[in-house]
Amino acid sequence: ENLGPQNLNRIIDAIFPMIQAHAFRNDKEVILDLTPLPDALIDEKEIRQVLLNLVQNALDATAAGGKVIVRTLLREPHYVTFAVTDSGPGIHPDTVGRLGTPFFTTKAEGTGLGLAVSYNIINRHGGKIELDTGSRGTTFYVHLPCQ
Ligand code: ADP
Ligand code: MG
Repeated sequence: ENLGPQNLNRIIDAIFPMIQAHAFRNDKEVILDLTPLPDALIDEKEIRQVLLNLVQNALDATAAGGKVIVRTLLREPHYVTFAVTDSGPGIHPDTVGRLGTPFFTTKAEGTGLGLAVSYNIINRHGGKIELDTGSRGTTFYVHLPCQ
């Protein structure tokens, strides 16, 4: 682990071109909406990995021509937050409780490791992941502690 004071916006901005290129290759688009944030104690490589996992899942849930939104926001005292939103079919209630279980996947070629790894990383950061899902789509919120 390699925690240091980092700005979440800078981390997201730095890999955004790669994310966008990947989305365009799949005829999808990712929209970025950043709000100024204080620094937080972050392992950059790990948080990048969480972002990529959540964006990949969101793109998987998105039809060609569709959009995924990546946002940063201040939503809770003492946390900085990023959110990944898709307009996909949502996650079935029976499935929600199994998210983060290693190897749980509903995809033909899924590994079922993306969320398990992501939940672990966020736990080690002292953060939390919140889910908002329904028939209009899904948002994963990742909250990371800050001063
Ligand atoms: P994988 O992507 O390899 O299936 P993950 O751990 O990333 O593994 O995700 C586990 C499962 O959670 C997925 O197979 C899918 O059923 C569900 N899931 C995760 N994110 C979303 C999303 N944004 N929309 C719909 N289902 C999702
Ligand atoms: Mg995945």
